[in-house]
Amino acid sequence: MDIVSHAGWGYATLRWRGEKASRIGALVGAAPDLLAFVPSAARRVLHDGWNASPRMERDPSFWRQAGPLPPDLQYVYDHYYVFTHSLVILLGVCGLLWLLRKRSWLWFAIPYGLHILMDIPTHVRFQTPFLYPLSRWTLQGVSWSEPWILLPNWILLILTLWWCRRRYAKPA
Ligand SMILES: [Zn+2]
Repeated sequence: MDIVSHAGWGYATLRWRGEKASRIGALVGAAPDLLAFVPSAARRVLHDGWNASPRMERDPSFWRQAGPLPPDLQYVYDHYYVFTHSLVILLGVCGLLWLLRKRSWLWFAIPYGLHILMDIPTHVRFQTPFLYPLSRWTLQGVSWSEPWILLPNWILLILTLWWCRRRYAKPA
């Protein structure tokens, strides 16, 4: 799914925990992509200088077809994406938080886990290795950029955020 939708759903899932938790929820909802693409872009700039523009594929049809990734995207996938989009690693982090008695932080596993669950069926080229490192099995999904996925997702998200706003509005 697109990163704005991930942030929006992250916000909505934790709105019942309060305004502050839901704002952090938005950030955590976007975190699997931010943690994969921001450090890899920073590394590319440090390595190749400012002129090395990120070679993200701009042609939308590229993302709607299965096939090999260009080498720079394959690097991001192998060194960042597999770690940030794994439910197994998320479960491990949750276990660690439990042991460290940071149990109130466990709520943030909801927007993070939802991000991964939404990516599994909606990625074609950048398939989501949610079982990594136990397995690299991925589902051949359908691209989130297909209008019949994108539009209902956005309508549902806007309705949900509108409902949240009404439900949790402060009395005047
Ligand atoms: Zn993602």
